[in-house]
Amino acid sequence: MPNHAPHHLDPRSPLVLDTRDLPRRPGSLRTVRRVVPAPADLGLGLIGVPQGADLSLDLRLESVSEGVLVSGSVTGPVEGECGRCLRPISDTLDVTIQELFAYAHSTTDETTTEDEVGRLQGDLIDLQPSLRDAVVLALPSHPLCRPDCPGLCPDCGAHWDDLPADHDHAQIDSRWAALQKLTGAPAQSTEE
Ligand SMILES: [Zn+2]
Ligand SMILES: [Zn+2]
Repeated sequence: MPNHAPHHLDPRSPLVLDTRDLPRRPGSLRTVRRVVPAPADLGLGLIGVPQGADLSLDLRLESVSEGVLVSGSVTGPVEGECGRCLRPISDTLDVTIQELFAYAHSTTDETTTEDEVGRLQGDLIDLQPSLRDAVVLALPSHPLCRPDCPGLCPDCGAHWDDLPADHDHAQIDSRWAALQKLTGAPAQSTEE
């Protein structure tokens, strides 16, 4: 749920949209195209947009009877770690945003909570909660370096890609036991 709780908005903040020059007449349009630095924590644990990376906003602001409808796309780089092998992942984010920000005292304002529908704060729109929700929804919750990543051998931690096809700790252990028999060492457990 977006956190739309009112707080002081800085009109110079890159993710605050100023609607002063958008006439409050349904059908009025304005486009916003800008590149902004990504805020902190834009993503999930293993994957996200690095803080300060270039986010390209390509948005349309449209006056509707209840408020301002913001729609368009946000693109930027994504970096993370494969959940199976921990190798770095680089990808591109391309999310769609479509969200109504209601005017104060509109019917929508009176009949919904701020968790359901965002609000204009004066002439300003805080895009950050909506952007964060869209980004989190678009990112994989289990990122992989490739769909068939085989991951790591649970016994030695080496990447299966780097191991021979017959890599097998059981086999190595039985050979080791045989060797111990030959050398007369006690054939007890080899585990630490
Ligand atoms: Zn992987
Ligand atoms: Zn292994």
